[in-house]
Amino acid sequence: MRPTGAARLAGVVGDPIAHSLSPSLMSAWIEAAGIDAVYAPFQLARDDAASFFRSMSRTAMAGLNVTLPHKQTALASSDRASEAAQAIGAANLLTFHDGEIHADNTDAAGFLNALKVAGVDPAIGPALVLGAGGAARAIIHALVQAGAPEIRLSNRSRANAEMLARDLAPQARIHEWETRDQALDEVALVVNATSLGLAGNPDLELDWRIAPASAVAADSVYKPLETGFLRAASRRGLGTVDGLGMLIGQARPSFEAFFGVPPPSDVDARTLLVSLLEPGR
Ligand code: NDP
Repeated sequence: MRPTGAARLAGVVGDPIAHSLSPSLMSAWIEAAGIDAVYAPFQLARDDAASFFRSMSRTAMAGLNVTLPHKQTALASSDRASEAAQAIGAANLLTFHDGEIHADNTDAAGFLNALKVAGVDPAIGPALVLGAGGAARAIIHALVQAGAPEIRLSNRSRANAEMLARDLAPQARIHEWETRDQALDEVALVVNATSLGLAGNPDLELDWRIAPASAVAADSVYKPLETGFLRAASRRGLGTVDGLGMLIGQARPSFEAFFGVPPPSDVDARTLLVSLLEPGR
């Protein structure tokens, strides 16, 4: 249906935002659900974020998804925050309730959902997470919640890895970045939560011969869909999970929070996003 003057509004804010896949995915779900709603992208400068969130909370807008670089400001601007958002220290979902801002983080649940869809049990053995930024924080929170028996962490800047471990996983073992290959020994799950492999960046290099053949490689990067990290793991014969599952997994609860209904199951979200990422494939 075409939106009316009573349409329910939501959107995504970031800087940059033009690359975001969320408006296409959310709009496909809105159309299939036949609801009176609009989901729009907002380019927003860092200094304007806090006042924008407060102003929007006083309108009829249902809420906002939040991406780089505003996730910390989103949490700091909230009146109430979920346990996940507080633990991770960032919010990717804000909902507005009579002028109150509620913050949540659905990246962690999105990552677990991606593993579930791929049939990967995070509790089955040691997990190695590479990176210590926002994505790594959500992923480590998710792994702790899901009962991963051992967490190994490696990051270019050791201080950031130490801070992450202190906040979210004091039991994690930190491996030096230069010797990260050693952390592949007996590992069950290896997650790239760095921005290495993202289009324009170098690949994340690992010596996959050290990993057992039963290990699974998961990437948070989805542009390109098959990163050098996943390609090398696949050549070694390992199972792989690309970054799209996490993206779709974080969007589902956001849609329901904004529009009060789950995303319709008849939309093939993955095929839609692959066609946007790799036109002609
Ligand atoms: P941040 O900027 O918060 O963190 C970046 C991380 O990458 C840091 O650990 C940083 O290390 C590391 N890094 C950057 N450059 C290098 C390099 N040259 N060599 C080694 N390590 C490097 O970004 P995010 O955590 O938000 O995002 C990380 C990735 O996850 C991005 O590619 C993003 O697209 C993806 N992502 C995917 C999502 C999804 O739904 N699939 C959701 C969120 C993010 P250091 O601490 O040393 O700087």
